[in-house]
Amino acid sequence: MGFTLPLSRDAFFIDGEWVTPSSSETIGIISPRTEEVVGTVPAGQPADIDRAVAAARKAFDHGPWPRMSVEERGAIMRKVAAYMRERGPEVAKLVSTEMGGPMSMLGRFPDGAGNLIDYYADLAKEVGFAHPRMGQVGPAVVRNEPVGVIGAITPWNGPLTLLLMKFAPALMAGCTMVSKPSPEAPLDAYVLADACAAAGLPAGVFNLVPAGREAGEHLVSHKDVDKIAFTGSTAAGRRIAEICGRDLRRVALELGGKSALIALDDADAAAVAKTAIPFGLGFNSGQACAALTRILVPARRQAEFVEALSAQMETLVTGDPFDLATTVGPMVAERQRTRIEGLIATGKPEGATLVRGGSRPTDLPRGWYVAPTLFCDVKNEMTIAREEIFGPVGVVIPYEGDDEEAIRIANDTPYGLAGAVFSPDIDRAYSVCQRVRAGTYGVNTFYIDPRLPFGGFKASGIGRENGKEGLLAFTETKTVLGLPEGIV
Ligand code: NAD
Repeated sequence: MGFTLPLSRDAFFIDGEWVTPSSSETIGIISPRTEEVVGTVPAGQPADIDRAVAAARKAFDHGPWPRMSVEERGAIMRKVAAYMRERGPEVAKLVSTEMGGPMSMLGRFPDGAGNLIDYYADLAKEVGFAHPRMGQVGPAVVRNEPVGVIGAITPWNGPLTLLLMKFAPALMAGCTMVSKPSPEAPLDAYVLADACAAAGLPAGVFNLVPAGREAGEHLVSHKDVDKIAFTGSTAAGRRIAEICGRDLRRVALELGGKSALIALDDADAAAVAKTAIPFGLGFNSGQACAALTRILVPARRQAEFVEALSAQMETLVTGDPFDLATTVGPMVAERQRTRIEGLIATGKPEGATLVRGGSRPTDLPRGWYVAPTLFCDVKNEMTIAREEIFGPVGVVIPYEGDDEEAIRIANDTPYGLAGAVFSPDIDRAYSVCQRVRAGTYGVNTFYIDPRLPFGGFKASGIGRENGKEGLLAFTETKTVLGLPEGIV
């Protein structure tokens, strides 16, 4: 596979320049497909984070960016978007190389990055950051001012998308940013830095330092950072929230999930399977935070649902992520596959029945593959029903009784990221939807829309990304009193 984008980098992007790292330590990029090191990036140290934060602070406190009009910021951001659009197909290959995602998914939206940035440029103009309001005493102006310096910490499973969901709204709100991508998949963030340089983004507005946990924590606890925007595991999110809580630093957390799809007793089994399998097991090879991995079906119809789900699993093709026929690629890392296999191994001893999969595909000796796996006869107390597996593993949980019981089981989880309900009776389905505590909910469907708010209830996070909510999350509200009417 020929690449025009580099698989190795030797600098950080700080203050509008490519700068030499403070240490010679590097991070190896390992292909989940070949298990070989395919590139390296420098490993950020606290000293590099300090330098990047100082640049972002200076750009926020003294630079032009926060003081530019929305139109001026938008014009530069549209140039970033155009660059990303041009590199779209190559970036998809880069992401697939780093984290093993199938090209059949990653290559489908080559304009995605550019479109998201353009969308926020339009939205910021439409929403506006100052509005007249009438108080009890008199008129006021309510302003949404940029939060300041953002520390963006992102995971490997959707590396560029999850960074862009912070980058585009934060910069359009007038913030500056230090990005710390994951050590597994940092290369695409470099392309975004290339785009910022090519577009003439003012120095220090976007800074990039790939690093591990320790330097990440240095960013989280940095006194000159105003807000941490984090996507990753609930465990890391708790730690980050603790640090931010101590310093009263703003924090947004997009964390894990264990989402439930509820099939009501009148649901069509084939329709359920058509959503449950691609969004529970298939999407991003099951490495998706919003995956609908708990499939709740009426107990008396379990056999029928299992048959439909199993038949739908036939459509999943596990294999080389560069093969366009592949829908399930390898897991991101060996430790991740080991963890998934450990969780699968708890299924049978705890009383679940294995329907399909459960092992490595025998025809793929190289690469960290896990065969798509389905269990039935699962109780919600079992490990496979409670833990976020983050692999192509789904569980069918039969429920006795009425919709109440299904709602109780769906809510019986520490998480609350997503969910779906299936029934031809829309009123009944919508009533179920309103009682499940989750941030994104599908009625007879499921997908994630970058223009609509996304985030978690309970241990799935704090705050929302995407849409208008995702833009305003990077602002502080200021009430201005005493201005004569007409001034905004
Ligand atoms: P992770 O929490 O291990 O790491 C995520 C990022 O945080 C990485 O960049 C990592 O280096 C950094 N990090 C980890 N601990 C840190 C700390 N103490 N201080 C600062 N930085 C730290 O998660 P992961 O394994 O890379 O990603 C998978 C997890 O992400 C899953 O739990 C998944 O559900 C979650 N996720 C959530 C969403 C969402 O929007 N809710 C989206 C995608 C992934």
